Amino acid sequence: MALQLNIKDKFNKELPADPLLTNTRRQVRNACFSYVTPKKPSKPELVHFSEEMIKTIGLKESPNSKEFLDVVTGNSVLADSHPYAMCYGGHQFGHWAGQLGDGRAINLAEVEHEGKNWALQLKGAGETPYSRSADGLAVLRSSIREYLCSEAMFHLGIPTTRALSLALSGDQVLRDIMYDGNPAYEKGAIVCRVAPSFVRFGSFEILAAQEDKKTLKVLVDHIIKHHYAHLGDPSKGTYLKFFKEVAVRSMKMVIDWQRVGFVHGVMNTDNMSILGLTIDYGPYGWLEDYDLGWTPNTTDRANKRYRYGTQPQIVLWNLLQLANALFPLIEEAALLQEILKEYQEEVEVAYHDMMRSKLGLIENESEDLKLISELESVLQLAETDMTIFFRLLAQLKRDGFSSGLELIKDSFYKPEEITANIAAKWTDWFEKYGKRLQKETKTDDERKQRMNTVNPKYVLRNYMAQLAIDAAEEGDYAILDELFTLLKEPYGEQPAHEKWFAKRPEWARHKVGCSMLSCSS
Ligand code: AMP
Ligand code: MG
Repeated sequence: MALQLNIKDKFNKELPADPLLTNTRRQVRNACFSYVTPKKPSKPELVHFSEEMIKTIGLKESPNSKEFLDVVTGNSVLADSHPYAMCYGGHQFGHWAGQLGDGRAINLAEVEHEGKNWALQLKGAGETPYSRSADGLAVLRSSIREYLCSEAMFHLGIPTTRALSLALSGDQVLRDIMYDGNPAYEKGAIVCRVAPSFVRFGSFEILAAQEDKKTLKVLVDHIIKHHYAHLGDPSKGTYLKFFKEVAVRSMKMVIDWQRVGFVHGVMNTDNMSILGLTIDYGPYGWLEDYDLGWTPNTTDRANKRYRYGTQPQIVLWNLLQLANALFPLIEEAALLQEILKEYQEEVEVAYHDMMRSKLGLIENESEDLKLISELESVLQLAETDMTIFFRLLAQLKRDGFSSGLELIKDSFYKPEEITANIAAKWTDWFEKYGKRLQKETKTDDERKQRMNTVNPKYVLRNYMAQLAIDAAEEGDYAILDELFTLLKEPYGEQPAHEKWFAKRPEWARHKVGCSMLSCSS
């Protein structure tokens, strides 16, 4: 029996399609997508599924059925569906890269359930017209990372694409992990991703670059109609409101990343969702040592364009590219520039509000900005675990600030690094923080509770994902499953899982996959 889903395709029904039906690499013009059928996997096998997403999309059948496996691995196509790959371009590492597109993502269908629209997309299901020189496939390693992290992000309360399932294709995939001339075969895998829409900044940029104003307008109107309907009917004013809302959503997303210590790694404009969702989990990482200059992406090692501390500025740069793409429909640069200027002002405020929440400060005091910037400096004097630091800090009593340094000492990676000079700086900071806390009206306990709702206890540390990957490569999915469950409650105390509330172990410090990740996936 076929899977029963309430398919309500819109993207491929309302937008112009590439007329060519062959699965050959090409430059596509005047179209938003190309029809393509997923590759048949040689020996599909389900590794994991998200019970929650099964319910969210309204699937009644058992995920353990052959029908489900076939659909989420591309072995069979849903009845009444017309799979396709999207056309988009993008700025990669600061340079216009031309056409990119879904090189290894194939959209199965859009499903409506409980008034919501969900696009289902297979990542790693074979070549498309946009595969360029690559194979359209994905390996188990990177698929586990996307599967676990996108669901973890959701449970952290951060806008993101979701994951329905993770499966093995049974095919071998050749990858040169560190691009150093050592290719090896890895297990091929497919993630079925889910989001209201997978449209990116680059989806608009490609049409503007082709000077195809007609299709650009059709795409913008489509996105507004289905995802920003509250903004009203198409008009210049609506397009401006649309751009403003994309800017605000993207700002909220990136401030949330800063809050939890998430570094995306490849913030190219093709990896920026038009809905403000975290999208395309590649060589991302989680800050362990609080280092504003850190990026896990070895491909970006030279310039560190996408390092942790600059992410909010990169969003601005990406918004500028989107503004350029939307310009033909608005034709008044000053109005777009005004919104970019507002972003600059608002992102500062949003960042400080977020940091104040991490410190448990409700009142808004004039000394707060200095207190925050001094904390940023002192946190970078010695290797200090961000996640552990903020959880321990929540336990501080306002009249016990003199023992602040003692309280947070477990967040230091090398206690011997804490020289008398560094200790004095910490003591100084704690004194200011302690004084500042006197101005708060809530009790210590209330502050602790509140801080623990913004400072996660459990995040997907790079080494944790790697442990899940190493076991999964051997066919053991126990850690994968444990982490999947753990990360559903990142802010809660989970005594049974306390072992994951720990600093990165020394063996992971310089290990590929833990501290070093490339775009190879
Ligand atoms: P990313 O930076 O991973 O988001 O990918 C940039 C572009 O490369 C996108 O157009 C992807 O679809 C494409 N791409 C990445 N990996 C592959 C692959 N193995 N096969 C085909 N296209 C790929
Ligand atoms: Mg991408």
